[in-house]
Amino acid sequence: MRAQEDEEFRRIVQQADLVTPDGIGVVWSARLLGLPVYERVPGVELMAKLCERAAQKGWRVFLLGAKPGVAEMAARNLQARYPTLQIVGMHHGYFSPDEEPQIIAQIKAAQPDILFVAFGIPKQEKWIAKHADELQVPLCIGVGGSFDVYAGIVQRAPEWVQRLCLEWLYRTLKDPKRRLPRLLAIPKLLWLVAKTALRGKASN
Ligand code: UDP
Repeated sequence: MRAQEDEEFRRIVQQADLVTPDGIGVVWSARLLGLPVYERVPGVELMAKLCERAAQKGWRVFLLGAKPGVAEMAARNLQARYPTLQIVGMHHGYFSPDEEPQIIAQIKAAQPDILFVAFGIPKQEKWIAKHADELQVPLCIGVGGSFDVYAGIVQRAPEWVQRLCLEWLYRTLKDPKRRLPRLLAIPKLLWLVAKTALRGKASN
């Protein structure tokens, strides 16, 4: 829904090498439209899989984002979980434009194979798109609030809540001020899906 309204973000999504359905709304909408999107791929789970693979293959990872100190805590916990994982650098996500060149230099010097960027959407995607050419990192990926989860600051919904596809409701109840406004997109999404489905029927 963000991509419908934000042209810069839409272009980034359309040009990305990989776009994953983090939320259940995208999965249900795709199912209603008969599109081949079968299940959620939450950023936090994708990051775990990538770290597991990186630990096996010797790929170097860099953590950029979240509040000061959080990436360090996340790194410690990830290191305990995947002992051979090479975390070659980290930096928080609250820097000024003046500090940016130094952070980019730090990332380039660390030569990571994977750069996890945790600024939340759409800030992380826009930042990656702006700096990807300069960074020359093989894989840059936005992972939202994942560092907070790996640091143990934010808990994911219990498994049974996830199985009921209600993780969005759980997160809204935990953080209503920030997350309630996002639910306003649901009626717009339903309308868009209905319009798209009817247009599809009309052209058949
Ligand atoms: N964040 C950041 N810099 C900013 C704004 C946010 O590093 O300028 C971090 C914030 O501390 C949090 C993450 O970005 O760790 C956003 O998490 P959220 O769960 O909101 O992500 P989303 O739901 O957008 O994927």
